[in-house]
Amino acid sequence: MFQYFNPNLYVDSVLDLTPKRLQQYALKSLLLDVDCTLKNYRSADISQEISSWIEMMKDNGIGLCLLSNGRHERIRCFAEQVQLPFVALAMKPLPFGCRTAIQTMNFDKKSTAIVGDQVFADLLAGKLAGLFTILVAPILPEEEPWFTRIKRPLERMVLYPKHIRCRECPYLRDTW
Ligand SMILES: [Mg+2]
Repeated sequence: MFQYFNPNLYVDSVLDLTPKRLQQYALKSLLLDVDCTLKNYRSADISQEISSWIEMMKDNGIGLCLLSNGRHERIRCFAEQVQLPFVALAMKPLPFGCRTAIQTMNFDKKSTAIVGDQVFADLLAGKLAGLFTILVAPILPEEEPWFTRIKRPLERMVLYPKHIRCRECPYLRDTW
């Protein structure tokens, strides 16, 4: 069961993902979660640092698509800020949003990773869709919404076996 909660890769931030690093895993495209992955939940903007990273990845030929459970209008604003295509109301952890994004973007499933901060949304959706999964330490606002907050202790529980093997796991180190 725990293989469903075992990401292929942990990173502190999307900024740690470089074209060279993706190449090591034969990845050519990324489905990017928005809230707490590219911006903190309450922020209305994506930071300049993250915007520059997106530009750099695009310039290097990495395919990018936003994939969020957020509402269409809200996610469209962020997509316009960074000029990326998007799939909203993705219903993660169900895998359908991943499949829609991959088909729409004409990505190759074998070389596509999902990148997100939530075990029970991004990671599980990616696993169910058969994608490479990258878990990032969440960009936390002062206070996360209650529906995310209640999931964090459960995330710690399912990640705990991994924690024993990987004490330097950035996700665990930074979140708890
Ligand atoms: Mg998120």
